[in-house]
Amino acid sequence: MSHSGRLYVISGPSGAGKGTVIRQVLKKHPDIMLSVSATTRPLRPGERNGIDYQFVSVPEFIGMRDRGEFLESAEVYGNYYGTPRGPVDSALRAGRDVLLELDIQGAASVKRAKPDAVLVFIEPPSLDDLHDRIRGRGTEDPDALFKRLEAAYEEVRSKGTYDHIVVNDEVERAADELARIIESSR
Ligand code: 5GP
Repeated sequence: MSHSGRLYVISGPSGAGKGTVIRQVLKKHPDIMLSVSATTRPLRPGERNGIDYQFVSVPEFIGMRDRGEFLESAEVYGNYYGTPRGPVDSALRAGRDVLLELDIQGAASVKRAKPDAVLVFIEPPSLDDLHDRIRGRGTEDPDALFKRLEAAYEEVRSKGTYDHIVVNDEVERAADELARIIESSR
């Protein structure tokens, strides 16, 4: 009998460097699938539709949600985000591990729906550091920056509900730690 893959949820405040850590892990483990979420947030410079996200309008998103196409969905910083169910289920059935990068609401819904999902929280070494990283990225206007910082405090307070906490003090080291967590849960 073939075994099914495992689901990993990666969360952490905006600017904690989740994306970079995940990319490093995928380089070492190209067999792992990173789920592409649908979002109503505007595309940032450098992002590609269908690769970073599936960028959709609000009516499109609501249609997808109402048809039950999402494994989970949530409103984050005033935009909608959702995990398409189909690709995740087929990868798991094919025995592939799947990474979902979700906010804390998404992580909690996935844990309810799939209790054997492994939840990993990636945190920045400090909140000052986080502030500098989000500002440095220069992609958010002051209002969005404030919302993201406020949410960061909230997210860091919820880290106790995660199975593992990885401090992103150094990308290579954090990626190795995340890779070890995945290898040891297999
Ligand atoms: P960003 O706009 O910076 O790409 O993502 C904002 C937040 O939404 C991040 O915390 C990210 O992990 C989260 N996020 C991205 N996709 C999804 C999703 O499909 N569902 C949920 N619940 N959160 C998501």
